[in-house]
Amino acid sequence: MGRPLVGVLALQGDVREHARALAECGADFSAVRRESELSEVDGLVIPGGESTTMSRLLDTFELLEPVRKRIADGMPAYGSCAGMILLAREVLDGRPDQHQLGGLDITVRRNAFGRQVDSFEEDVELTGVDGGPVRAVFIRAPWVESASPEVEVLATVPEVPGAGSAAGRIVAVRQGAKLATAFHPELTGDTRVHRLFVEMVRAAA
Ligand code: GLN
Repeated sequence: MGRPLVGVLALQGDVREHARALAECGADFSAVRRESELSEVDGLVIPGGESTTMSRLLDTFELLEPVRKRIADGMPAYGSCAGMILLAREVLDGRPDQHQLGGLDITVRRNAFGRQVDSFEEDVELTGVDGGPVRAVFIRAPWVESASPEVEVLATVPEVPGAGSAAGRIVAVRQGAKLATAFHPELTGDTRVHRLFVEMVRAAA
């Protein structure tokens, strides 16, 4: 295929940063706010922001079931931070009424890092991404508490001073055409994670 059309769920969160990274990776970008826009994209990025707010807006914009359906039907999806929370099958420390989009057989703990620190940065080795570690920026981030055997663990927090109870925690996963990171590669100018996702979109098309 030529340039895949990758949507970014544009209800809330850091949409523009993802759009820029996708463009650098040879994808066309579309802001997704309605079902007609969703139906056109080859893959969807769910940005960082606030998962409870995005969950509510998915209802308001009547996108909850359409996005769930496309995800279940195999559309590639990449969630960063709040996006990882939305793609998870189960959330700990979420709001009881917050919706899940599904797609990843993982349980995440919301605001897991935030109990000690609001944000944390570290170099993290990422399976599937060549050229050395990526700078992982965690902002009130979740971590993956548990993952089913079908889920490939791509990254864990290294055992470094400052990592505290986050050391060893799973922070990037892949299951088929679904990818998620607890951190925000869209904020660093390093587009390797987006490149991996664009490759996944191309492979699925
Ligand atoms: N804490 C946020 C949530 O629960 C996620 C933070 C982020 O996306 N940077 O959705």
